[in-house]
Amino acid sequence: MSKSKQMIIRFRLLFLYSILFSFVAHSQGLLQEKNHFTRQDTLRGSITPERAWWDLTYYHLDITVNPDKKYIFGKNTIQYKVLEPYSIMQIDLQPPLTLTRALQDGKELQIKHDGNAHFITLETPQEPNTVNSLEVYYDGHPREAVRAPWDGGISWDKDINGNHFVASSCQGLGASVWWPCKDHMYDEVDSMLISVNVPSKLMNVSNGRLRKVEQIGDTKTYHWFVKSPINNYGVNINIGDYVNFSEVYDGQGGNLLMDYYVLKDNLEKAKVHFKEVPKMMEAFEHWFGQYPFYADSFKLVEVPYLGMEHQSSVTYGNGYQNGYRGNDLSGTGWGLKFDFIIIHEAGHEWFANNITNKDIADMWIHESFTSYSENLFLDYYYGKQASADYVIGTRKNILNDRPLIGFYNVNHEGSGDMYYKGANMLHTLRQLIEDDEKWRKILIGLNTTFYHQTVTTKQIEDYISKQTGYDLTEFFDQYLRTTMIPTLEYKIDGKNLKYRWTNIVDKFDMPIEVSINKNKQWLYPKGEWETLTLDENIGSLEIDRDFYISSKKI
Ligand SMILES: [Zn+2]
Repeated sequence: MSKSKQMIIRFRLLFLYSILFSFVAHSQGLLQEKNHFTRQDTLRGSITPERAWWDLTYYHLDITVNPDKKYIFGKNTIQYKVLEPYSIMQIDLQPPLTLTRALQDGKELQIKHDGNAHFITLETPQEPNTVNSLEVYYDGHPREAVRAPWDGGISWDKDINGNHFVASSCQGLGASVWWPCKDHMYDEVDSMLISVNVPSKLMNVSNGRLRKVEQIGDTKTYHWFVKSPINNYGVNINIGDYVNFSEVYDGQGGNLLMDYYVLKDNLEKAKVHFKEVPKMMEAFEHWFGQYPFYADSFKLVEVPYLGMEHQSSVTYGNGYQNGYRGNDLSGTGWGLKFDFIIIHEAGHEWFANNITNKDIADMWIHESFTSYSENLFLDYYYGKQASADYVIGTRKNILNDRPLIGFYNVNHEGSGDMYYKGANMLHTLRQLIEDDEKWRKILIGLNTTFYHQTVTTKQIEDYISKQTGYDLTEFFDQYLRTTMIPTLEYKIDGKNLKYRWTNIVDKFDMPIEVSINKNKQWLYPKGEWETLTLDENIGSLEIDRDFYISSKKI
């Protein structure tokens, strides 16, 4: 983003400066623009031959965290199925952490280090369809989070009582910033045991369910087990002076354990504020279908940063208040009716954790649907008008700087517009479908069809096109792959209305709803001028505000 454009944007959005600082920071940090890619980007972002031959089945991450020294050490046992015979395995771990040893069948293996990637030469023959495992050992002082969760790593914080308050966050940056793994989105591990040893007076909360706690001298090891496939950046550690309370939610999948871990001093506040969590669950099960991780429970865990969609242990740091740090991102008032972090981050359980992008270039699948979930929560409790006001209100945050889809195979995200432009694209699609029940079934259908899977944009596009019965190729090309906003040009001349689309991709022909002389009707514009002739003079033309387009009367 150029400096001048950035200034214009900031000037335009002066009122929302404090919120937008985070938002723009997000666009510049996690979602930064990048034109030159390095060999390291390719090693990180592509399915290299050293990754393609094996399929992850199980991890046991077994680590000790020493908050006094800001130090981590331990090992990861990596179990995998051999797809094709090969002898070199790529494991990722980011400096300053060091991968010290790799063992298979008790034998120490040779490791060739190449920046964040480590190539391990296996000695045991790798027979197709066999399940093998190896252990990798590591230690060091992991990168500290600069501005979590956007510029992540480990946050080594303290609570107001001076106790250590530690948390990981690594979306985009990659899980290999704090533990060794196959750091690519396409291959999710099927299940995982996370064992974290911490000083006795602290507790570690990770994903899934707590299996056991072991007292070892003046330390404790917390063993958390995740039964469902999980993406790398979803795995997390949260270490603090936590207290726990819980409830059982009677949901679409039966009894769901809802577990809350908060700092001791915030217990009473949390008990009141988290009453929104079952409300969230009810609204999202209605719109998206059954919560995808009943086996692993649902947790909300307090952290020293804003929040993140860690699977089955969504992290929370919004200060027990509504809005986004107390602000309304839509400017309509509706954004203060819910806690942005509870709603947004939990919405990711369906879009990001259940349905996960294979390549981070397709991260709009996570953020567009989840930003859209904010207005569906409002729709469920406050109605369609409120939901439309909200999502339309967020349009002011759209920059149209870059397309929503990033570059493939180099770990590159698209524009931060994947949030609110993406949400408005989906809101526009709802208008085109003109049948809210059908639209809801599509959203549920996405979650059952791609249950616990990693997907591409094309799979999502094809599914929606098929279910709606419309060929949405140009619609998605326009909104996902360009920065052009379709412009409806029109001329009124007596009884005649001339209209056409400009600023569009080839063959874009989205219908649009308008009111002519207060009468609603659909227009079917194309790239060439069309003429509509009425029996009476055309006094007024109003375009349905639900469509994310621009218009020009000429
Ligand atoms: Zn998000």
